Amino acid sequence: MPRPIRAFIDLFALRHNFSVARRHAGSARLWAVVKANAYGHGLERTVRALHDLADGFALIELERAIALREAGLTKPLLMLEGCYAASDVPLFIRHRLIPVIHRREQLDWLLASRWPAELPVYLKLNTGMNRLGFDTAALLNAKSALAGRHIDCVLMTHFADADGPRGIDWQLERFRVMTSGMSEPTSLGNSATILRYPESVGDWARPGIMLYGGSPFPQAKSAAELELRPVMTLQSEIVAVQGLAAGESIGYGCTFVADRPMRVGIVACGYADGYPRHAVTGTSILVAGQRTRTLGRVSMDKLCVDLTDLPPEVGAGVPVTLWGEGLPADEVATAAGTISYELFCALAPRVPVMEIG
Ligand SMILES: *Cc1c(COP(=O)(O)O)cnc(C)c1O
Repeated sequence: MPRPIRAFIDLFALRHNFSVARRHAGSARLWAVVKANAYGHGLERTVRALHDLADGFALIELERAIALREAGLTKPLLMLEGCYAASDVPLFIRHRLIPVIHRREQLDWLLASRWPAELPVYLKLNTGMNRLGFDTAALLNAKSALAGRHIDCVLMTHFADADGPRGIDWQLERFRVMTSGMSEPTSLGNSATILRYPESVGDWARPGIMLYGGSPFPQAKSAAELELRPVMTLQSEIVAVQGLAAGESIGYGCTFVADRPMRVGIVACGYADGYPRHAVTGTSILVAGQRTRTLGRVSMDKLCVDLTDLPPEVGAGVPVTLWGEGLPADEVATAAGTISYELFCALAPRVPVMEIG
């Protein structure tokens, strides 16, 4: 018997979530963001499931993009960090990869190549995120260099607080000032922008987390309220049951101490599977479909759950849902002081994946 842990990837839910993005984004075209192995969901299966829906796919990893091309994918591919060295440029050309250009050197590599006129580039503007992108002067220089070569560009920026109190208006205003008089298409919005500011996503929106069923702002609106369905469900089983007397502790560090006699289940899932070690005692978990809580520290291969108030037949062999169908990943992420993105991306290679759909 293999260890009972597995992740289910629901491709119907993925396609449903894409249609939610489509509905919000109106006439904008959509890059399905599939970086980081499609946020842990598996790049190839995600691309396959969204192939007839998405206008293109956006990612970071050059070798994965090349693999998609070698497998026959002809859709547009956008490389969100562009080239890292001049030697990448021939690969971008050969595989028709659209680069995001965010600093002058990347542009110079491209201008020194036989860049084909039909392959556009994205110019990234820094409007306040202050990670990547051109300022106004550098943008003007870049644009005129491209115009001399008849290479089309799309003007892109990224919002720092589309999910938070500061919103996007301040960055949109800077974008408008920086690009005044320019008529190129734009690419502005991630999931939070698509859901909160659907009129400001630009011509090409870039949904990521919402496709996978995570809310970009779970404290304000749950995934269910946004009509998003979980795509990844992480399941395991109870592999042992312990009876604790009052005063007994459980797990490393003895951080949880029973204040009464308790029944505790040991689940075959730990941080080496991708479950967050920082999930606190009390994190929600489903045992045999019923909500209960984790107890004590998460260890590498195991975690502990409270069975005290569950029926006595709930014991070894009973299924446990760590997150997904019936238990939003956002809830677990919040209990661990993180975001669903990190849980999904951290799904460990040792967890077998099963597709639904
Ligand atoms: C990852 C990424 C996105 C997707 O963001 P979500 O919050 O997951 O929707 C969009 N644009 C860029 C540039 C990104 O790097």
